[in-house]
Amino acid sequence: MLELENVNTYYGNIQALSNLSISIGEGEIITLIGANGAGKSTTLMTICGIVPALSGKITFEDERIERLSTDRIVAKGIIQVPEGRRIFPYLTVRENLDMGAYLRNDKAEIKRDIEYIFEIFPILAERRNQTGGTLSGGEQQMLAISRGLMGKPRLLLLDEPSLGLAPLIVTQIFSIIRKINEENDTTIFLVEQNANQALKVAHRGYVMETGRITLADTCENLMQNDDVRKAYLGV
Ligand code: ATP
Repeated sequence: MLELENVNTYYGNIQALSNLSISIGEGEIITLIGANGAGKSTTLMTICGIVPALSGKITFEDERIERLSTDRIVAKGIIQVPEGRRIFPYLTVRENLDMGAYLRNDKAEIKRDIEYIFEIFPILAERRNQTGGTLSGGEQQMLAISRGLMGKPRLLLLDEPSLGLAPLIVTQIFSIIRKINEENDTTIFLVEQNANQALKVAHRGYVMETGRITLADTCENLMQNDDVRKAYLGV
């Protein structure tokens, strides 16, 4: 579905991504794990065209997208849930969800999607008239994911959904990520520092160090790998 081939991205003179190659099949959950500053967020921003790739190819459903503008990439169904959530704090939960659907005009389906979101995240239904800024961190993350879902993603890019959240909430959010993947055929690219949780929820994973992929394998194999266990799983 999405293929990055030898992608190189720079911030000025600093090379943030080096010959990055990643492939994501339709229906998969793929995780990208790595330490702080490894280049995970840059990978997502390069896919979305926010930070341009200097060289290399990015292909989405057989079409080259590395020179497209971000709005055209979003319109193709690639939707990012950014690190730090970035919900609209002065808009209500319901209004935040409406913002996620701004490219759509299929009213009946939008209504069905909101009902689905309220079913998977009942706390958002309870808080539908509350402003986003009054929600807890976990609820804001649920809202950020839901706002992304309102854009009807074919490929959902999640940037560190576990950041700053209590372990119990992280487990809850990750099990819903799996549910979204299974129930909606939504392909998911999950960027995480929390390797323990990410490797449990994803099918395959990539390990990134200073802008390069150092390992790519099934999550089962990565969890058994001695280097991964020492560096990322703390065992
Ligand atoms: P984190 O978990 O902290 O978000 P990350 O793996 O997502 O880390 P990136 O944010 O992609 O890493 O950063 C990759 C590298 O690019 C780092 O060395 C970072 O300092 C650098 N970098 C990121 N954004 C910029 C920027 N706007 N200008 C210059 N350098 C940047």
